[in-house]
Amino acid sequence: MVSTSYGIYGASGCGRGVMPLLGSSTQEFDGERLFIDDGCALESVNDFPVLTYHDFLNRPSISKFVTIAIADGQVRRRLAERCAKDGLRFHSVVAREHVRMVDCEVKEGAIFSPYTTLTSNIRIGRHFHCNLYSYVEHDCIIGDYVTFAPGVKCNGNVHIGDQAYIGAGAVLKQGTPEKPLIIGPRAVVGMGAVVTKDVPADSVVAGNPARLLKEN
Ligand code: UDP
Repeated sequence: MVSTSYGIYGASGCGRGVMPLLGSSTQEFDGERLFIDDGCALESVNDFPVLTYHDFLNRPSISKFVTIAIADGQVRRRLAERCAKDGLRFHSVVAREHVRMVDCEVKEGAIFSPYTTLTSNIRIGRHFHCNLYSYVEHDCIIGDYVTFAPGVKCNGNVHIGDQAYIGAGAVLKQGTPEKPLIIGPRAVVGMGAVVTKDVPADSVVAGNPARLLKEN
């Protein structure tokens, strides 16, 4: 019997970029690697077997870990709640080229792609996605199920609510300890946006400087 199964949930674009990191990260790794996907008709993707969630649950391994590699924070939340209810544990995937400085707390299930950086005194919630070349500067507070597409520049003293999505190459202006820049829960920041003001919950902003495209 295999002792440990690592499931990357999602065999599409995001998952295919995360699976190779499982074997190459600095973390200790011992076990089989599988994709979990409920909508994939293929038996394998890039030579890794694809199982439905049901089949993964029934896999006769001693311990099972899941990393949810789906960019949509709402979907990630729903799947994480189901996995937790079924007693599965979460595994964070951290690329070898990730840099982390001092006093950073990151909760379970995160993904840190290559060339991502956390500097100092940072708090990050569950199932964070920090895609290629993104950084988080000092004193930021980031909620649960937040997604950074590649190349996000999150400067110091920015607070980001649960399930917010920050598009590729967006720049979030530095706040101050007295007045952090706030990105509300479930907000979407478009690719390349330069965010200089707070972003309301459930809204969409884009452009330089970023303007509201959709209000909550
Ligand atoms: N998916 C799933 N169960 C769900 C929702 C999504 O297995 O409840 C899978 C879906 O079949 C797809 C992947 O997650 O293969 C999401 O892929 P998509 O291209 O939409 O997003 P990305 O990979 O860019 O995050």
